[in-house]
Amino acid sequence: MQKDFDFEQLVEPLLLWFAGHARILPWREEATPYRVWVSEIMLQQTRVEAVKPYFERFVEKLPDVERLADCEEETLLKLWEGLGYYNRVRNMQAAAREMTEQYNGELPADYGKLQTLKGIGRYTAGAIASIAYGIDVPAVDGNVLRVITRVSGDEADIMKQPVKNKIEQILLQIMPKGRAGAFNQALMELGAIVCVPNGKPHCGECPWEAFCVAKAEGLIHKIPVKSRAKARKEEHKTVFVIQDGERFVLRRRKNKGLLAGMYEFPNAEGYFSEKEALAYVEDMGLVPLHIQKISDAKHVFSHVEWQMKGYAVKVAALSEEEEQILFVEPGETRERYPIPSAFLAYADYVNVLLGSRKIKAEGQAADNFNDGEDI
Ligand code: SF4
Repeated sequence: MQKDFDFEQLVEPLLLWFAGHARILPWREEATPYRVWVSEIMLQQTRVEAVKPYFERFVEKLPDVERLADCEEETLLKLWEGLGYYNRVRNMQAAAREMTEQYNGELPADYGKLQTLKGIGRYTAGAIASIAYGIDVPAVDGNVLRVITRVSGDEADIMKQPVKNKIEQILLQIMPKGRAGAFNQALMELGAIVCVPNGKPHCGECPWEAFCVAKAEGLIHKIPVKSRAKARKEEHKTVFVIQDGERFVLRRRKNKGLLAGMYEFPNAEGYFSEKEALAYVEDMGLVPLHIQKISDAKHVFSHVEWQMKGYAVKVAALSEEEEQILFVEPGETRERYPIPSAFLAYADYVNVLLGSRKIKAEGQAADNFNDGEDI
């Protein structure tokens, strides 16, 4: 960090800039604690544009803590289908249940208490406390770390907790009292649309251009400094799209671990030859009639990457369902059977829309329905 960098000088230009440039976002229109919480959890690991339709649908179906606490797991996962990191929504429900028991079904207006709830860390607690309750606390996420280290020319590793703590302390000191919500949002917004994470920052539009150290000293490409995360583990899988006439096969994943409780196309570790694939399907108690190789696909999770090869298999109709597997019609997946977007490429083979594609289609259907209807 440049010695004696004056952090106070950041405040006024930033707030002025934010007043004229804040994006209109659904969760900003009515920034209740519940809506801020839902949006912040959705926005972890997910882009703003992708979150918008999910957010609208979620708060419409589950408008408050109580409704979230009471929601059935399958409906909950269905509302989250395609957003990924499903533990986020499970933790939200656990937190909602705790709020129902301990806090009258409200999010506590207390920075420390918020952090005791499942899935709410320092950043999210800071965002809820400052934006929804006007409490003077910082909310430091990746965007904020980037803009602060760049403007002050700080080459410390932002993955390290002491560095995050130091930046929190600085922000707490310069934060204009009573305006923490606007201040925190302005910092996040600057990082999201001007001092952007990928590609060149738009310094010409930045309220801090005149005194930015990274800009003046040619350090933009170097800052923020981030120690490398562990390399992702690669897993090979064979995925089976098994159809019996109109229906296709799904199975439920275990209750623990990655994508817990979600539904998936049957799949197995490793790449199978056609012969091995047929044997696998027979072992499921099915009678294969025809097998065809279909597209490869890849899905990246935070710690693991799936490299998938697929087979479409036609099987003889079953008179009875096996215990472990479900024969499902595509239409049934509209309300039930949350399927993670890791299987997006294979869902296409059975005409099932997942995640944002599904929300978009629902939106279009609703638009069409609304045409000429007086509702
Ligand atoms: S001047 Fe450029 S590098 Fe510096 S904070 Fe603004 S956008 Fe980022």
